[in-house]
Amino acid sequence: MLSFIRRTYGLSSRAPEVFRVSGRAGRCQPTAVTRCYATDGEVDLVVIGSGPGGYVASIKAAQLGMKTVCVEKEKSLGGTCLNVGCIPSKALLNNSHLYHQAVTADFKNRGIEVGEVKLNLEKMMEQKTTAVKTLTNGIAHLFKQNKVTRIDGHGSISGPNEVTVHKEDGSTEIVQTKNILIATGSEVTPFPGIEFDEQVVISSTGALSLNRVPEKLILIGAGVIGVELGSVWSRLGSQVTAVEFLGHVGGVGIDMEVAKNFQRILQKQGIKFKLNTKVTGATRTEDGIKVSVESAKDGSKKEEVPLVFGLVKFDLEGDVLLVCVGRRPYTTRLGLEKVGIPLDPLGRIVVNERFQSSVPSIYAIGDCIHGPMLAHKAEDEGIICVEGIAGGAVHIDYNCVPSVIYTHPEVAWVGKTEEMLKEEGVAYKVGKFPLSANSRARTNAEIDGLVKILSDKETDRLLGCHMVAPVAGEMINEAALAMEYGASSEDIARVCHAHPVRVESERTGGRGGLSRKPSEKLTSQLTLEKPSTFKLQPRQGRRSIIREFLLSQVILIRIKKKKEKNALLQCRYEVVQF
Ligand SMILES: Cc1cc2nc3c(=O)[nH]c(=O)nc-3n(C[C@H](O)[C@H](O)[C@H](O)COP(=O)(O)OP(=O)(O)OC[C@H]3O[C@@H](n4cnc5c(N)ncnc54)[C@H](O)[C@@H]3O)c2cc1C
Repeated sequence: MLSFIRRTYGLSSRAPEVFRVSGRAGRCQPTAVTRCYATDGEVDLVVIGSGPGGYVASIKAAQLGMKTVCVEKEKSLGGTCLNVGCIPSKALLNNSHLYHQAVTADFKNRGIEVGEVKLNLEKMMEQKTTAVKTLTNGIAHLFKQNKVTRIDGHGSISGPNEVTVHKEDGSTEIVQTKNILIATGSEVTPFPGIEFDEQVVISSTGALSLNRVPEKLILIGAGVIGVELGSVWSRLGSQVTAVEFLGHVGGVGIDMEVAKNFQRILQKQGIKFKLNTKVTGATRTEDGIKVSVESAKDGSKKEEVPLVFGLVKFDLEGDVLLVCVGRRPYTTRLGLEKVGIPLDPLGRIVVNERFQSSVPSIYAIGDCIHGPMLAHKAEDEGIICVEGIAGGAVHIDYNCVPSVIYTHPEVAWVGKTEEMLKEEGVAYKVGKFPLSANSRARTNAEIDGLVKILSDKETDRLLGCHMVAPVAGEMINEAALAMEYGASSEDIARVCHAHPVRVESERTGGRGGLSRKPSEKLTSQLTLEKPSTFKLQPRQGRRSIIREFLLSQVILIRIKKKKEKNALLQCRYEVVQF
């Protein structure tokens, strides 16, 4: 644990102004500042931000032996994800789903009869807050356990090896460091001309803490966050109308067949959609809000896209407007300009494949750089970035990062969509399995959905997996694992799955995509008694799993030849060392 030298230069209630630091850390000579602290000696890494990217990176760095400091401007650790993102939204999604089951005919149809079902919104919010608090306190505990030093305050980069922390009480603390890792995440993107008050016009943050159920909720944006939060309030009793600029729900990256299926299910649940429609403005009314919309296709050709009663432009009235048009990187007052680190046109910090910015000692990860804005992507980047700083290899395949929409049923995908494969000119096969044919889904009377597997037409390598299913967020990880290891759809089909589970649909979907009989002859068999090196045959997929060479104690390899030039391997290994 670091010890901090505290230097007090008189107490004043004025906010800090200019200060100057001369020489090494600890030699702080403020000119017009109230108080100034400096860390005792240099640290190895200062992480700015304690979201899933920053806190995971801090712990990993400390575990790798680095003297690590994490700077966080908010009182609670965990960033967007734990405080106003993944965790509170999933708590509300879970509990609103249970309420919806009880209040609709669902429970009755299952033979569960309850008396009058009432919503206690305050209690529901309380459960959410407890979950958030427990988890954020857990990070503080992990910091202590792993000897990560936490500094509360707004961090800004004052040099390639220096971070200045501006604290709530007006003091500043300067930390000299070998490396800096920016993990400052993202913030809600505002809608031009519509200001948030978090009461009538709300962002995702406000939607997680409403103290009443709006009668009519208008939602701008039917992307991932929009449909999740729209679902919460729809289940709790709001009439939800979602206005979406794109022609589909679920945001960017979703497979179109899945999007159509998903939209049908949400509509059945009561959510209304106005697709290909853009919001042009909103005005407060006595009772709430009036939102003006028009066709996003071509407003001038009125006859082309009649929306309501043949009109292209019309108003929607509601008592709450929820704006979910995305998030943008957060780099405010970070001091990037001081060290000359550029941003790309979308405001993201530009980094190389080692997450290194234009200043070699400064790295960046998570929502403030390129790639999907997802908590697990930020975590993975955090880990591999600090491993890289410690001298390790750095590799992430964004194609293997799964995406999940936590509605009911859930929607999940990994890899390429059919649309992407067509655009790239890749020859592919499709294997589909409707959930209605899955025994567990039938047993649970939750049959809406499908699993769709896309694989390479020639090699059968898994290229993408897309699904709508009650536990799709869990199921998709099997496909992500398979893709990461370059498996084929046949590999998934050949793995013995527990029964009855919904993930069996993936297995069967894979088999469907394969359109081949599962029993094929073993053409050769090889047993290595001693540790040996084995060079793999040229099958693309297997290369990443076995990293070209296998060092194995006992290895049984079954080789079957499909085509001369394309030998397929199936490996079963007891002891494998990479
Ligand atoms: C409603 C909602 C639901 C979501 N659901 C999911 C989900 O289910 N799954 C998923 O994967 N993703 C989800 N996300 C996205 C996810 O929250 C983000 O992708 C993730 O939090 C990004 O992590 P990060 O570490 O990059 O940044 P953040 O989590 O944004 O953390 C950044 C931290 O840095 C701090 N910070 C910023 N600047 C400074 C500074 N100068 N000094 C000190 N501290 C600073 C911030 O206060 C913050 O704590 C959701 C987001 C929202 C809004």
